[in-house]
Formats: sequence, structure tokens, C-alpha cells
Amino acid sequence: MIKSAHVLSQSLSVRVRTGGSSTRDAIAATTPLVMQSFLTWLTACPVDGETHCERVGSYYVRVACTQLTCGILLSLAGFYISSFFGVALYILGILLTTAALGLFQVGVFHYCSHKTVFRSLSANIVLGRLVSSLCFLPDFDHYQLKHMRHHSYKVLLTDEDEFTEFVVDRCGLRPGLSKGRLWVRVLLAIFSPCFHVRFIIARLSLTTSNLQTKRGRVVAAAWSCALMIAYLVGVFGYFAACILVPLSVIFQITIILRTLCEHHVPKDPEVCNRSKDFSNQATRAVFAGTAPPLQTLQGIRKIFSWVIWWFCMLTVHLLFRIVVLVGDAARHDLHHARPGSRDWPNYMRDRYPLHQDRNYPVAAETWGAFATIDACLTSISISKQLPVG
Ligand SMILES: [Zn+2]
Ligand SMILES: [Zn+2]
Repeated sequence: MIKSAHVLSQSLSVRVRTGGSSTRDAIAATTPLVMQSFLTWLTACPVDGETHCERVGSYYVRVACTQLTCGILLSLAGFYISSFFGVALYILGILLTTAALGLFQVGVFHYCSHKTVFRSLSANIVLGRLVSSLCFLPDFDHYQLKHMRHHSYKVLLTDEDEFTEFVVDRCGLRPGLSKGRLWVRVLLAIFSPCFHVRFIIARLSLTTSNLQTKRGRVVAAAWSCALMIAYLVGVFGYFAACILVPLSVIFQITIILRTLCEHHVPKDPEVCNRSKDFSNQATRAVFAGTAPPLQTLQGIRKIFSWVIWWFCMLTVHLLFRIVVLVGDAARHDLHHARPGSRDWPNYMRDRYPLHQDRNYPVAAETWGAFATIDACLTSISISKQLPVG
């Protein structure tokens, strides 16, 4: 009975629940009806009454595998076309590979730790360990323990929390620094070769932290063999360009950006009075895009504004959605509200913000990468403490 209901749910279409974003409503009111499905996918925010196709966790495993295969093939194809088109193909390929790695991290590895990708416990563990080994993510068993603590409202944003460790210890984003200095530190992290070398070494050591166990030794041996074979058959350059480059520097840049979209520091009184609502106060919905031009604009200003808006939507925001806002990363608030739910692949069905604008720099939802990260840095800058006690 349960199994048949589960299978049925894979092909079920439902209506999006009401409530939600005035920005998305404004986009829907001023853009063609035929574009709404695409804009819903692009923004990660649906419109009231829109048809929603129900998904299960394995859907994202298939998407990530397909993206990874296409990304590697496209970037390889770029080497065989000696023109600008070849360079464009290579860039497109490594971006798609990076998107796949992000989806493996957010939609597969992370949800395997919650045991919600498959119904089988062992399938979640096996896949989680495999993704950890292939993507240089932390050892799955260690990560699972640590991530469950991240979901405790008593641990979130303390010095034991994974978000705090990354933001403060790895990126050097400390409370009390001006927002400008925090932005400089983010940009230094993104563009600094030293940062990326330190980061990849830390990732490798976390992946193989169990070298004394059989699994850790198998991971290290498998990667050593792959690198050696690629070198011996003369394809190490392609291997490095099409797999190691996205797996290291570009993936790490997206990890920085995505992490800064996940949380912010709540107002100090909320920090002091930790309650079960604390996770809600430290998260919000993040959507790709911006509000459309004002309807009061006329003539050339109206045309110019719309051209700029569509250009930004189809470049900056599209890139943000594909490589940073992967899987259900747009609704980290929803994930913290129901961390063990198997319904996470349907994050776009539940569109309404979980809490209202609290007249604080970070509202219940933010739109666009810059506004989201800026809000996170503002909250760190004005907070008195991070880690918070
Ligand atoms: Zn979180
Ligand atoms: Zn989680």
C-alpha cells in the first residue's frame, strides 16, 4: 500500500499552495503567461495555483548524473573545436559539471545524511559514502553526525556548528568588521590561490580522514589509480581541465556563495533567547532574480529597463540558479523547519515564507545572489558575536 502510494506520487501533479512572494507575483503580472513555467524554475518561486509536478529524491540523483556526463562531454568537445565556439563549449561544460557537483552535495550527499533520498537506509549510506569519495566531501559518517548537530537550535551558529566553522574559521568573516571589509574578505577567498589550495587540502583530508579504515584506503587508492592511468595514457591534461578544475576551484567558489546564502545571524535579542524558533530566525527563502521594472515607466525608459531586466535574468540570475542555488538550496528555511521530511524535492510547492519580515536586514525572503550575500554580511557586521553563545 505504502509502496504503491509512493510510486503514484512520482507522477502526481498538484496545485501550488497559496501565499508567498510579492516579487514573484509582480513578475507573473508583467511577463507572458507562456514564460511562467520557465520563470518558476529560474526563480525557484512558483505562482499561486501553478501546476507542480511531484518529485522524489532519486530524481535529483538522475539529474546530477546526467548533468555530470553532459558537462564532461561538452568540456571535452571544446578541446576539439579550435575557435571561440570551442572555448564557449568548454566553459559551458565545466559550469554544468560544477552544477552537477553542487547537486551531488546539496541534493544527494546532504539528504543521504538525513536518510531521505531513498527509503532504504543502506542505499542512503552507500550513496552518501560514494558521493563523499567522488566529490571530495567530508567522510559521510562524520558529516552525518556533525550535520545533525547543525539542525539543533541549541548548536546552530555556535562554535560547534559547521556554518560558523566555515564562515568564521575558513573565510575569516568576523562580527564587528564593516560590511565593506567583509565583502573584501569574500572576494579574496574567491580569487585567492592560497585560499583554494588550503581549502582543497582540507577537503582531501576530510574525505580520507578514515585512512586507517578500509574505506578510506580504497578512496585514496582509487583516486591515485585514476590520476596515474590518466597520466600514463596521455590524457592527464584533459582530466585536469574537465574534471579537476571544476572539482576544485570552481566548486569551491560555489560552496562559498551557497554557504553565505544559507544562514544569517539573527538580531541579538533572538540570539540571547534561543528557542525552537531560532532556526527560523537564522534562515530565509532565497530566490534567483529581481523585481521587474515599474509599470509606470513609459517610452524608451520602459524598453531599456525591460531589456536590462531580461538580460540580467538570463545571465547573472540564470548562472546563480544553475551553479549555486542547486536542488532545494533556495528553501533552506523550509529544510530547517522539516529536516527529516522526504518531501524536500517538492520545495517549490510550498512557496510561502515561514516567517514575516521582522524589520531586520534579512527579510523572510531575498532575491538575487548579491542581495542575499549582502544581507548575510550585514547581519554578521552588526552582530556582537559569531559564534553565538
Ligand atoms: Zn543550515
Ligand atoms: Zn540538513
